[in-house]
Amino acid sequence: MPERILLTVDGLQVEAESGDTILKAAQAVGIQIPTLCYHDYCTSYGLCRLCVVEVEGVRALQPACVSKVSPGMVVRTTSERLRRLRRTLLEMLASTIDLSDAPDVQALLVEYQADPQRFPDAELRLSTLLDDNPMFIRDYSKCFLCWRCVQVCGEDVQFTFAIDFSNRGYQTRISTFFDKPMLETTCVFCGQCLEVCPTGALKPKRLWLLEAGRTPDEIMSLTPSGRRGAP
Ligand code: SF4
Repeated sequence: MPERILLTVDGLQVEAESGDTILKAAQAVGIQIPTLCYHDYCTSYGLCRLCVVEVEGVRALQPACVSKVSPGMVVRTTSERLRRLRRTLLEMLASTIDLSDAPDVQALLVEYQADPQRFPDAELRLSTLLDDNPMFIRDYSKCFLCWRCVQVCGEDVQFTFAIDFSNRGYQTRISTFFDKPMLETTCVFCGQCLEVCPTGALKPKRLWLLEAGRTPDEIMSLTPSGRRGAP
């Protein structure tokens, strides 16, 4: 049976269960901590660090999505130090990734008064758009490596393992094994990765064609229907 734990978040007394994360405990009392890589249905790994918070008595900032609550813990989710850190993280992201299809991140840029031009010499992570199957396109210029697509394709949902990280450091990206076209992988086109992608890096082919100005008739002729026997 989980133990009930009392802690303080932004001055509010919060009751949580042992094993809960700081993020969950804060959400339970209506305090929203900003996140990028976090998704309710994916395992958290604290990759993006946007959700870091201050915990009294702990020198290093703690990622709220993976840090567990403890009795008497005192947490601050907003402060000048946190605002500066989050603003800089968002500015670094905006300097290297095409965020034009990521409305939630754009809203955070506004909220944290981030300047997308702050690092003018940063190198954009450009990638060729991959249109190698009839169901969805992949535009990794828009990918900020949240890892959600890999998680739902793998152990969090589908156990298909069609995609994973490849390379290291700045060259890290999402890829199929040996960069094979999607049709030559284990992908079953379940669409789970499209559902969790927050940036438009993965997009249904029909939506992409619509945005490109194709007519509905053209789109139907270029993409198969999911229903057997339907046009
Ligand atoms: S493609 Fe989308 S879901 Fe996958 S890592 Fe990139 S941003 Fe995240």
